[in-house]
Amino acid sequence: FLQITDVTKAHGTLEVLRGVSLALDRGEALALTGESGSGKSTLMHLAAALDAPDSGEIRIGGQSLGALDDAGRAAVRRGRIGLVFQQFNLVPSLTVAQNIAFQARLAGRHDPRLCAELVGRLGLSGLEARYPEALSGGQQQRVAIARALAHRPELILADEPTGNLDEATGDAVLALLLELVAETGAALMMVTHSTRLAARLGRRLHLSRGRLGAPDAA
Ligand code: ATP
Ligand code: MG
Repeated sequence: FLQITDVTKAHGTLEVLRGVSLALDRGEALALTGESGSGKSTLMHLAAALDAPDSGEIRIGGQSLGALDDAGRAAVRRGRIGLVFQQFNLVPSLTVAQNIAFQARLAGRHDPRLCAELVGRLGLSGLEARYPEALSGGQQQRVAIARALAHRPELILADEPTGNLDEATGDAVLALLLELVAETGAALMMVTHSTRLAARLGRRLHLSRGRLGAPDAA
């Protein structure tokens, strides 16, 4: 479903990605590991159509992102992708419930029952009317995860989604993501520094010196 072919990307003179390829099918869960600064977030941004590669191709559901204009890429991002960033990017002027429904509304696919279900499954019950500033970091992270799932994305891109959560909550969030992958057939690519969590996903790839490889070869 997600096809990345020989992608390179530099930030200034720093060659971050030097020929990265991967294919991720629907219903598959992939862990992306690598040292801090190895380019994991850079790769996630490219896969999310938030940034364009210097060379190489990225396809989502058979659609080449390079062949789309900005509006086309925005439509793919809104409609097909669920994104969880390292920074949560919640809208401060919207409540928890409004933040969660935000992308689903944009995509014209708001489903109050699914939103309520996500609130419950992410342990956010009772917080729906609060604003982000009145939430802990872990609660904000869980709101961001609910928002990324509320429009039933086909591709879930999660950059350290459990980074601000205690071990038990992080485990529960990963379990929820894996359940959704099984239930909806979405493809999941998740960045994590935790080898323990990475082992629970079906596959793991390690980013090192601008290339992707088996974790053992790192
Ligand atoms: P972490 O685990 O710390 O989140 P990462 O693997 O996600 O790290 P990236 O954020 O992809 O790493 O950054 C890869 C390299 O590119 C780093 O050396 C970083 O300083 C650099 N970099 C990232 N974004 C930019 C940018 N917008 N401009 C210039 N350099 C950047
Ligand atoms: Mg990062």
